[in-house]
Amino acid sequence: HDAPLFSGLPGDISASFEFFPPKTEKMEAKLWDAVSELKPLGPSFVSVTYGAGGSTRERTHATVARIIDEAGLPAAAHLTCVGASKAEIREVAEHYWEAGVRHIVALRGDAGEPGAPFTPHPDGYASAADLVAGLKDIADFDISVAAYPETHPDADCPQADLDNLKRKLDAGASRAITQFFFSAETFFRFRDEAAACGIAAPIIPGILPVTNVAQARKFAGACGAEIPAWMDGLFEGLDARPAARQLVAATVAAELCRRLYAGGVRDYHFYTLNRADLAYAICHMLGMRPTGA
Ligand code: FAD
Repeated sequence: HDAPLFSGLPGDISASFEFFPPKTEKMEAKLWDAVSELKPLGPSFVSVTYGAGGSTRERTHATVARIIDEAGLPAAAHLTCVGASKAEIREVAEHYWEAGVRHIVALRGDAGEPGAPFTPHPDGYASAADLVAGLKDIADFDISVAAYPETHPDADCPQADLDNLKRKLDAGASRAITQFFFSAETFFRFRDEAAACGIAAPIIPGILPVTNVAQARKFAGACGAEIPAWMDGLFEGLDARPAARQLVAATVAAELCRRLYAGGVRDYHFYTLNRADLAYAICHMLGMRPTGA
């Protein structure tokens, strides 16, 4: 029996792509290459992250505006509560609305120091749920929020984290995007638990194609995601072999996406790290083709 390895059907899948705002002209050119390469796939949206402590406020804005104006893609701006009063958030949000940005990924953010507890600005929002409510008060943004299949590290327990996710959606968010994870079962369990809590909004899996385990582990610990031990084994001995690492990364992420597809997932969010190749290849394997081709 010769069943296809990948069974996605063209037109069946939608994908969104996450970028970070570039710091230099060279990085900007790289980002732009990635956006241009992924654009023909017709993403449902692309999003641009917000640096720790609001450090990229202007760059996030400029990048989102350029993606909308020049690439003509629907773009979402990430926004956090860190280091900003409610009045400052209002100003940022109004500025986005004026620039034609209609989609915000609303987040709490983290303290500046790695591992330090989050402390809200004295006149600011204390959590993402509060931010969602505040944004909805400013304008009728389409809002996405974060979800954690392996539970956010600050949560008292998985149920408390799910209750928090429900609060964010009840406050006006229309979908959740997950932190990255490497087990389809983990995602399905989370999806079932969310449904059992009465969460009906879409939960979109966030896919991180990992080419460098050490680097991925560095940001995984602090953000409610675990890098499984088998991943180390897969990359063992490949430090000096970047091409092999790319192939391994694509294979692992594509296999995860395939398992998610088999479990009914049709929407994927890719953490691109401003590179198109892996996300493009995985989307292609899932059956996506350039629109109009
Ligand atoms: P919240 O939903 O507010 O939750 C934070 C913690 O507090 C959770 O443990 C929650 O359970 C708990 N909590 C909240 N309210 C209550 C309550 N009332 N009672 C009890 N517990 C409560 N960070 C950035 O700085 N910039 C970005 O651009 C960015 N983009 C991201 C995109 C995605 C898709 C994801 C998954 C994460 C992103 N992050 C980003 C990281 C995020 O800011 C951190 O994970 C942060 O620690 C939590 O943000 P949150 O929006 O999930 O917070």
